[in-house]
Amino acid sequence: MTDTDYQAVLEEVAADIAPRIGQGRPAGYIPALADVDPRRFGMALADVDGQVYGVGDWGEPFSTQSITKVFTLALALAHGGHNLWQHVGREPSGNPFNSLVQLEYENGIPRNPFINAGALVVTDRLLGMTGDARGALLEFLRAESGNEAVDFAPHVAESEAAHGERNAALAYFMASCGNMLNPVPAVLDHYFWQCSIEMSCGDLALAGRFLARHGLRADGSRLLSSSEAKQVNAIMLTCGTYDAAGNFAYRVGLPGKSGIGGGIIAVLPGYATLCVWSPGLDEHGNSVAGVAALDRFTTLTGLSVF
Ligand code: GLU
Repeated sequence: MTDTDYQAVLEEVAADIAPRIGQGRPAGYIPALADVDPRRFGMALADVDGQVYGVGDWGEPFSTQSITKVFTLALALAHGGHNLWQHVGREPSGNPFNSLVQLEYENGIPRNPFINAGALVVTDRLLGMTGDARGALLEFLRAESGNEAVDFAPHVAESEAAHGERNAALAYFMASCGNMLNPVPAVLDHYFWQCSIEMSCGDLALAGRFLARHGLRADGSRLLSSSEAKQVNAIMLTCGTYDAAGNFAYRVGLPGKSGIGGGIIAVLPGYATLCVWSPGLDEHGNSVAGVAALDRFTTLTGLSVF
């Protein structure tokens, strides 16, 4: 373990990166996300024993968006979806998260589970395995965070569906290549609802603790083998922050997954899971203040995977 005073570090981080809060722009392509105040900032850390530390707006729910892709991947693997890797790759895409171009060159096999095409494949398989992908996800997130109030935001899901042409294009293209097992409209519906889930930094840090606990859930039962937990963390490190994963690894040195709601979760295997939220995004879709805060955290503490 570490004798780091996490609360003191989070406060120091928040003070140090304050000038970055409000920089960047909230996501605009889903109207329901465009109205969020860009000056919000929160950060939380849950250690492996479940102790939570937080600073700023760390208890305020926000739109988790692509952060949910980590949890659906873990659930699909936990349900025995190991042949998933024949249908989705594990390489960084080097392309925007919703790119169509590469998918056509590569015959409908998405590069990794954290770009939209790959996440649609994962949601499709989880739907096949559980009969209710979004329900299985919500139940898991409530259980791990200990917060029964965690829920979908119907107006965000509806807004995404109303502006979901690109995700629909990805899904139908993959279906044309034989890489969708369920009807595309059902997969898209589960995917949009999945992305709409709202959670706070504290909820997400707790819910992602299995990644720091080598696959163990909050109640001590095993979700993933320690090898699978390592694999999910590795994909987060290489593919979790859009086409800026190399720079994120360089600056932060932790596996991370960001979402266009402005949240990022990051994992210190064996120690803790962190979550930071600030809605202003850089040109790649990562929270400006969020990346700065995680960078500052690992620099101040010397805690990283390297
Ligand atoms: N719901 C968003 C989409 O599929 C998620 C984007 C993201 O957070 O990366 O377009």
